[in-house]
Amino acid sequence: MYEEQFLDDEKTGNGPILAAQFTNRGETYTAYRYTYADGSIGYYNEEGISMRKAFLRAPLDFSRISSGFNLKRLHPVFKTTRPHRGIDYAASQGTPVYAAGDGRVVEAGYTKANGNYVFINHGSSYTTKYLHLHKRAVRKGQKVKQQQTIGWVGSTGYATGPHLHYEFLVNGVHRNPRTVLKSLPKAKSIDDGNKDRFLAQITGFQMQLASYNNQRSLAKATQANASSTL
Ligand SMILES: [Zn+2]
Repeated sequence: MYEEQFLDDEKTGNGPILAAQFTNRGETYTAYRYTYADGSIGYYNEEGISMRKAFLRAPLDFSRISSGFNLKRLHPVFKTTRPHRGIDYAASQGTPVYAAGDGRVVEAGYTKANGNYVFINHGSSYTTKYLHLHKRAVRKGQKVKQQQTIGWVGSTGYATGPHLHYEFLVNGVHRNPRTVLKSLPKAKSIDDGNKDRFLAQITGFQMQLASYNNQRSLAKATQANASSTL
């Protein structure tokens, strides 16, 4: 269920998705769009539980993983055993790099080794790091939203080709970004302060969804009747 935008009775485009419903093996899942007082949005089920993961699976659309998380890797530039405390995602120069989750930029700069880099803090326990960017799109101290572009893939610093070196730290310890996600929390659910407002917003969506579903089962029943009278 989505919004349609009109100007003088003429449709000018589609707006955001307001509610989505998915049935699998008899179980129905519904997500509702909720707009906070400050204009930010989220998608939640009827109990106010977020339908979004707190972190993206990968912070870009990549073509392949060129080097995995490996604490005993032979370094491609230095030819010595050095731990690789992140994942290298190969992608063409200029591919947007996204913030893996909501947070605040704690470092953004340039060093000879890292090239252009951005570090983001996500609450007290989690930090993500993005290295070798062609360009940075954010400044130190800036707040970022999940999926916001924070820079573009490049090969600045010690890099043999365009790729993103991505690190994921939990309480200061490097973890494998690919496997750590299983143990991470979901995005925040609706808090008590928003509960009434949330329920008020989704009531209309729920009624509309119910009416669509009624129409559909009515149509099905009519079809079934028609075929039985043939
Ligand atoms: Zn790397």
